[in-house]
Amino acid sequence: MFNPEKIKFGKLEDKVWLSTPTMHGDELKYVTEAYETNWMSTVGKNINAVEKELAEKIGCKYAVGLSSGTASLHLAMKLAGETLYGMPKLGKGCLCGKKVFCSDLTFCATINPIIYEGGEPVFIDSERDTWNMDPKALEKAFEIYPEARLVVFANLYGTPSKMDELREVAKRHNALIIEDAAESLGATYKGIQTGNFGEYNCISFNGNKIITGSSGGMFLTDRLDDANKVRKWSTQARENAPWYQHEEIGYNYRMSNVIAGVVRGQIPYLEEHVDQKKAIYERYKEAFKDLPVTMNPYDAENSEPNFWLSCILINEDAMCEQARGEHRALYVPEHGKSCPTEILETLAKYNVEGRPIWKPLSLQPIFRSCDAISKEGTLRGCTDAYIDGSRDGVGYDLFSRGLCLPSDNKMTVEEQDRVIEIVRACFE
Ligand SMILES: *Cc1c(COP(=O)(O)O)cnc(C)c1O
Repeated sequence: MFNPEKIKFGKLEDKVWLSTPTMHGDELKYVTEAYETNWMSTVGKNINAVEKELAEKIGCKYAVGLSSGTASLHLAMKLAGETLYGMPKLGKGCLCGKKVFCSDLTFCATINPIIYEGGEPVFIDSERDTWNMDPKALEKAFEIYPEARLVVFANLYGTPSKMDELREVAKRHNALIIEDAAESLGATYKGIQTGNFGEYNCISFNGNKIITGSSGGMFLTDRLDDANKVRKWSTQARENAPWYQHEEIGYNYRMSNVIAGVVRGQIPYLEEHVDQKKAIYERYKEAFKDLPVTMNPYDAENSEPNFWLSCILINEDAMCEQARGEHRALYVPEHGKSCPTEILETLAKYNVEGRPIWKPLSLQPIFRSCDAISKEGTLRGCTDAYIDGSRDGVGYDLFSRGLCLPSDNKMTVEEQDRVIEIVRACFE
């Protein structure tokens, strides 16, 4: 229960943000260059440089600059659909009527492109070691739907998934993988950068990501033909002809050379940003040692996250009662206990931006008719969860007990102390 007497400061003017862009100066140089040379377009030096530099940094063969991470996921999904099931009929997506296994606990952008392509998401529960897709639940999903051929998973909050296990399961069932590395640029698994673990992989330069272009994204692959296809689709699928010749449906998804200038200026600072985020994570971890909470976990032996967001999970026995409806939450304050709702509301009162853990997609009203599969292999039509109240699963538990704390690169030690003090005061 929050005890205001434990707080030394009053309400402060300066807001502490979750994660905001951190600029260094080179960005303006490249943007200005684009302006002065009149390459204010979707072609130019910045795009070429960004594609080359990021492919090198990540260690993949090809990178295609696009307008957003979501656009890159969409084209990855279309590509996977065509590779697996052939060309679609006009007006129908490539994945029309096909089941696609995807992370349940993630941002909706990971899986909305499944719907754009006419596919049917089947939500796979998380495991507790990294909060990412559970390979055991994925195996169960293949037992239930052996015909499925596509797996899409995200590396949540910058923490690499259980890559070896997920890849082994997918390979055994002859399935393609799309890795959503939108949150995990710069993170590694067994020394390999995330963005290499699927046939098709995606990153994002959205404003709150570890490096940003203000917006933008990138498609990554080792397959030349596929990289060329994505580049072609992203510029309205023009054929090589003297006029506008169209033999496929295209999109206006190419990255702007101005945006690419911002990204280009950010690339040299990726490691610095990761170090700053890691220091923030470590400081929280140390400060909360004696509280009934744990930090978002990772496999320290095999992986190095980029620590994009620091999160805490409240121990079960330290949770006060909390009830969440579709749009509102209530809780019962209790000495020695707290809950995400109390902590988030208190942080907001003191001008600090926190965030709940992603609400599992299988619990979202729009996806209620889709299946969700846990490691026990329970096939749960999501409507059932509302009828019998069995909103079980690891993802739901993480959503109930977890929250994201401010993890901004520019957060000062004093500002982080303010966050720490508030969280501590909530457990009084
Ligand atoms: C940010 C994000 C995306 C989408 O990227 P945009 O560039 O915002 O379209 C996709 N997946 C995850 C997990 C993300 O966090």
